[in-house]
This record gives sequence, C-alpha cells and structure tokens, in this order.
Amino acid sequence: MGNWQQVIKNSVTTVDQLVELFGEENVDREAVQQAIDKFNLRITPAALETIKEIGDAFWQQYVPTPEENEVIDGVPDSLNEDADSPVPNITHRYPDRALFLVSPVCATYCRFCTRRRKVGDPDKIPLNQFDSAFQYLEAHTEIRDVILSGGDPLMLADRRIEYFLKKLRAMRHIEIIRIHTRIPAHLPERVTPELCATIAKYHPVYVNVHFNHPAELTPEAEECLARLSDAGCPLGSQTVLLKGVNDEPEIMKELMRKLLANRVRPYYIYQADVVAGGEHFRTSVLKGLEIIKAIRGWTSGMAVPHFVIDAPGGGGKIPLMPEYVQEITEDEVVMRNYAGEEYRYPLPKEPVLSSVL
Ligand code: SF4
Repeated sequence: MGNWQQVIKNSVTTVDQLVELFGEENVDREAVQQAIDKFNLRITPAALETIKEIGDAFWQQYVPTPEENEVIDGVPDSLNEDADSPVPNITHRYPDRALFLVSPVCATYCRFCTRRRKVGDPDKIPLNQFDSAFQYLEAHTEIRDVILSGGDPLMLADRRIEYFLKKLRAMRHIEIIRIHTRIPAHLPERVTPELCATIAKYHPVYVNVHFNHPAELTPEAEECLARLSDAGCPLGSQTVLLKGVNDEPEIMKELMRKLLANRVRPYYIYQADVVAGGEHFRTSVLKGLEIIKAIRGWTSGMAVPHFVIDAPGGGGKIPLMPEYVQEITEDEVVMRNYAGEEYRYPLPKEPVLSSVL
C-alpha cells in the first residue's frame, strides 16, 4: 500500500470525529448525519489542515451543515448529464469531446459538489462496466478529446490509471486526454514520481486542477503542481464561485495570480449550479461579473479565467462577460477600458473614389 493510501486512512469520516474536533455546539449531530447519509463525508489531513476556525472558507467547503438538507430550487442532476449518457460512465454532450467517469470516489468530499448524486457511490459510477464505454469511444471517431473525471481519477491505483491511458492512446482519433482532479488540494501525497512517470508516457495529457481559495495553495499543494508540470502536463484550473468561500474580488484575484505563478493557467470560474444539497453556496450572477471586472486588466491577461454558467438542463457552458462595449454606431465603437474610462475606435470607412481618375 502506498503512503497516500495510508494518509487517506487518517481522514475524518464520522459525525463523532467532527464533534470531537469542533465541539458539540457547532455540529448538529442529527442534521449532519442526515446530510452524510445522502453524500459521503471525508476530510483528508491536508484539507483539515486548511480549516483554521469554525465557519471559515474551508470549514464551509468540507463540513456538512443542516442547510444541505434544505432543498429550494435544487435538483439532483442539474446539468442533465444522465440524459446525455449513451452508455454507463460516458457523457457525450459536445461534438468532439466526451466525459468519462472512471472513479466513484474523491479524497475529500466537497459539500457543494455538482455530481453529489453519484460521487462516493460505486453503484452509480460502476467500476466493472467499462467495456461499453471503451466500445463507444472507439466507435465515435469524432471524439478527439476525452476527459477523465469522476469522482477523482487520481484516486485510482497507478496501474488502473495506466490501463485507461493506454486504452485511450490506442485509439488514433483521440488526440487529447484530460484528467480532472482536486487531488493537489486534498491529497498532494498522491502525486508520486511513479504516477508522474506513468502519465508522462501517454502525452498529451492535460491536468485540470480545482482550487477555490488562495490558502488551498499550501507549500505541499504547490510542490504537487510542480511535479505534474515537470512531468510535462499542461495545467489548467477550475474554480467554483461559492458564497462565503471566495465571493470577494480580492480573494479571487489572489487565487488566479497564485495559480499562474504555479504554472497553472486559470481556465474557468463556474457560477454554482442549482444542485439539491448545495444551494446555500449560490451567489448572485452579478457577483461573478464583478469579480471578472476586478481581475481583467488589473492583472496579467493569462490569469483571467472565463466566467461561465453551466446551463441548467444541459445547455453546456455559457460564458458571461462584463459589458465593455457601450455602443457600436456606423462610424465607431464606444468602449470602456478596465478602469471605466471611455475610448472610441473608428470603424474602417469605404474608400472614396477620386472623381479625377
Ligand atoms: S473533488 Fe470534485 S467530484 Fe469530488 S466532491 Fe469535490 S467537487 Fe465533487
């Protein structure tokens, strides 16, 4: 058993442990147990280390609260992924890319998880039904980009990860493999030199990591990112906009800068989905636009992610932009720059033919 498998055994998984850590007055035993019955509890030592006080950004992400049991508008499958699943473990929504769920488990379970209806449950992301998934990917030669997700693909043993990478690489039409993971934030020990060497055999393998707060970039997480980067994996990031966690422009700006400094290209900030059990994390959409406005122009363009809403019902990711264009007339575009100052760009004019020719 690898060191990381030992580390995960030291995680918090029960209400009793939560009570012991945070006190009876801060853990509503009955409500928390009810929440855990619906969606697993696990907090790894690295994630626990980030919690500095009750109710802080990390406590909110990892410690179940009674609010999870309150459903207002939320639905279990808010992105309608199951409707676009032609065979178990595959979601094929976009023309040339497919999502392949290869692992039911995560190191730490995030209470806001969009896929909480399935994640943590091996019956819903079955580990013994991959044949039809491979057959589907083989037959659909229009798919050139496969995203390994779950759960967290890096929770699999190295030989299982190699099995997937090898099978996918053998399909000539698949150009890009992506791994979506939150392991660098939750279990940095998992990214061993052996794992990096395994991944490196199957490039191009992109790794998209998930960070929600600058304090998640601990020295251990940063070293983990460096190992992946040194192994030749282009790194991108995904962040979910979460109420009380990162819904402040300064927090997001610092997060994006720190990611970039760790060779991670910020890719998406997601508006929180309308998912049952995670609704208390939702913010207004204007908050996301305010955040993008506070980042774009004020720091390196490479640190500016797309702010997107994953459209409820399965419409895919739709980017939202603050309004920089004020007006487009026949003669000019009237715009405001990042600091709110107005500028005009003259549109090209039809050449005037000289009458003396
Ligand atoms: S790591 Fe990702 S898939 Fe797992 S619980 Fe967190 S958000 Fe959900």
